[in-house]
Amino acid sequence: MANVAEEAKQGKKRSGHDNGVPHIDQARKELLQDLARKHGTPIFVIDHEKIRKNYQEFKEHLPNVQVYFAVKANSDPEIVKTLFSMGSSFDVASMPEFMIVWENIRDMPDAERQDWIWDKIIYANTIKPIETLEALDHYKPLVTFDNSFELKKIKEYAPHAGLVLRIRVPNTGSMVELSSKFGAHPGEAVDLIIAAFEMGLVVEGLSFHVGSQCTNFENYMQALQLSANIITEVETRTGRKIRILDIGGGFPVKYHPGIRSIRTLARKLNTEIKRLFPADMQILAEPGRFLVANTCTLVAKVIGKAVRDGKPCYYINDGVYHTYSGQIFDHVNYPVLSFKEGETEISAVFGPTCDAFDTITLSAELPELDINDLVYSENMGAYTIASSTFFNGFPPAKVVHINQ
Ligand SMILES: *Cc1c(COP(=O)(O)O)cnc(C)c1O
Repeated sequence: MANVAEEAKQGKKRSGHDNGVPHIDQARKELLQDLARKHGTPIFVIDHEKIRKNYQEFKEHLPNVQVYFAVKANSDPEIVKTLFSMGSSFDVASMPEFMIVWENIRDMPDAERQDWIWDKIIYANTIKPIETLEALDHYKPLVTFDNSFELKKIKEYAPHAGLVLRIRVPNTGSMVELSSKFGAHPGEAVDLIIAAFEMGLVVEGLSFHVGSQCTNFENYMQALQLSANIITEVETRTGRKIRILDIGGGFPVKYHPGIRSIRTLARKLNTEIKRLFPADMQILAEPGRFLVANTCTLVAKVIGKAVRDGKPCYYINDGVYHTYSGQIFDHVNYPVLSFKEGETEISAVFGPTCDAFDTITLSAELPELDINDLVYSENMGAYTIASSTFFNGFPPAKVVHINQ
């Protein structure tokens, strides 16, 4: 909660920002309203120009890192196409995600080449159903694992896969913590890798994830040091070379101006990677949020209105079971903004379902709105529509692409 106060303070310091979210200009506002009139609401507008810009920014700061976009952040196939055309590779975590990417690359001239598939896809869910392993084996994919039970499954059902061991690293201060569910303890890592080699499997690399929306850059530094120690010990004890280091996701998005930019993180990463690893180590990263969060805007409509205990209450046609699901699962708050100007009042905004839990906010600063007025939320590209449900019969928002 301290964070919220901090955000509010920082938001206030900069004029033209609301909760730190830069106000969009008039032309963009008109475009969003036109699209809403044309397509109906709720609409989820994906700006492909911004996706390309994010990809370029990442590559500019981390030129020696191959990008594997984490498809789970937003699995819209058009996003996969846009990123693929920029040269991106992909991190998938389920068989359907694998197929979304495979459909896009299967017809490329190099698609039959083993190194091409590894260059383009990593299956980065350490826990895989047997059916998935059986289906994956045909592609001889690169997959992650973090325990000996999984190793036995891989040996039996996907013996042609290349392996990457995921280790557990500090997730301190990250908005979404992952270390309680995934990652081998660093103290067990070397033995696990040796066990894999002894089973006739090939461990190609090491991976980690510092937690999503990681603003504590020390997590990355500690993870790099742990990885370097493990790789050195494996090479000393087995004489075999670990060729891949996958530094995972976690790259933070500027949901508010207080968040340090990728430039600062990249500088630290580049320095440490150079210090700790040989020049021919292949460095991969799996950014999800960073590439898509600021590329999407939701436009919804006021469908009902009430005054409760003196407070204006608006009911809109999207909520926490739908695009605002990120507020629950991803711990990000998305301010509800109005296209209308005027004096504001603290207002509540609810989703459309028959559940009181479907509350987007109890404290939006909104001018007086009428039925059919449009509202919008920005920075909704990551972990929002991806976790939308059909609860109460309301389908997910309609997706609209711009600047494709
Ligand atoms: C979710 C996930 C990512 C993406 O994380 P971001 O914080 O969105 O960058 C990357 N790798 C793995 C294994 C993940 O589970």
